[in-house]
Amino acid sequence: MDIREMDKTYVAGTYARFPVEIVSGKGSLVYDETGKEYIDMGSGIGVTSFGIADEVWQNAIKEQIAKVQHMSNLYYTEPCAKLAKMLCEKSGMKKVFFSNSGAEANECAIKAARKFAADTRGADCYTIVTMNNSFHGRTLTTLAATGQEHYHELFQPLTPGFVSVDAGDMAAFKAIAEKTPVAAAMIEIVQGEGGVLPLPADYVKELAAYCKENGILLIVDEVQAGNGRSGYMYAYQALGLEPDIVSTAKGVAGGLPLGATLLSEKVQSVFGPGDHGSTFGGNPVCCAAACSIVERMDEAFFASVREKSAYLFETFTGKPGIEDVSGMGLMVGLKTVKPAKEVVAALMDKGVLCLTAKDRVRLLPALNIPMDVLKKAAEIILACCAE
Ligand SMILES: *Cc1c(COP(=O)(O)O)cnc(C)c1O
Repeated sequence: MDIREMDKTYVAGTYARFPVEIVSGKGSLVYDETGKEYIDMGSGIGVTSFGIADEVWQNAIKEQIAKVQHMSNLYYTEPCAKLAKMLCEKSGMKKVFFSNSGAEANECAIKAARKFAADTRGADCYTIVTMNNSFHGRTLTTLAATGQEHYHELFQPLTPGFVSVDAGDMAAFKAIAEKTPVAAAMIEIVQGEGGVLPLPADYVKELAAYCKENGILLIVDEVQAGNGRSGYMYAYQALGLEPDIVSTAKGVAGGLPLGATLLSEKVQSVFGPGDHGSTFGGNPVCCAAACSIVERMDEAFFASVREKSAYLFETFTGKPGIEDVSGMGLMVGLKTVKPAKEVVAALMDKGVLCLTAKDRVRLLPALNIPMDVLKKAAEIILACCAE
């Protein structure tokens, strides 16, 4: 049995996999089982922030694995504390809860918001307003938060207490808040799965101000846009926001599973012992990996991400076969004349791995992708869209 057959036989059929097996890689290049080389413009959906097999990251993991690979959260471990400090310093938040994925980071954000609202505003204040076209994860609660009906249909009943509104429609948000006690608003600064669409900046600022005035918490889901991807440590920082709760995951540990929920000064004390937990959350190996990623994220690094982003926007805007370019930082969506799926399949033939998001081709390259590799990929993409 070859690998594809074995996978089809034994792995649950939740993924429509591309007909390619990736066996190795280095930086922004990966290789399939025949030795064919691809430029990786997806980085495992924004996970391998510094590319495949990055040596600094590998060494951090090797060093930690030689010491201790796991201890219960009943004990202190150095990487966990160091990573929490670093994330707080770079985000302006005050405390961190560690988990293992984006959905779990959002579960924690939701639990924190519900508990804070119940403690301060009463037990009937639990509603969380999210955005239509959002994506917050696959657990029953984060699906409820996800404002896309088609994800809901097969799994009723979902967790109650969620309503979604159109991003940009402040009146719709206010109408809910005026008749229902609202615990929190939950947004992505850029809707990744929703098509790489930034929310209107004016709307986000107005929403944040309205939430602040009315005692409603602001939760920002930075699972995809966070950790340098937007050209800032967190995308909310580009808008000057002060969220109460921030969730992140994907790129934070460069390829090992780690979720983090960041709590602001206002909500930092919401959890006490026993209120929440995770066996693997804050695992020393994952945290050491994340430290090796996050410690390299400084202003010069963010500037380099923004420079590469500007290059992509310039290169693709107004070009044959490309109707629109959207996104922020190295999170870029291309509305192509040809169906996005066809473009991505053709690009795979030509040695470039890209993603889709809704009707767009989605580019999420490693943040340290060398400029010459990025240019080569961009030229192949341009040619493919123009064909
Ligand atoms: C990917 C994603 C999630 C879910 O993350 P998982 O690690 O797959 O659970 C949640 N929110 C956003 C914005 C995402 O992009």
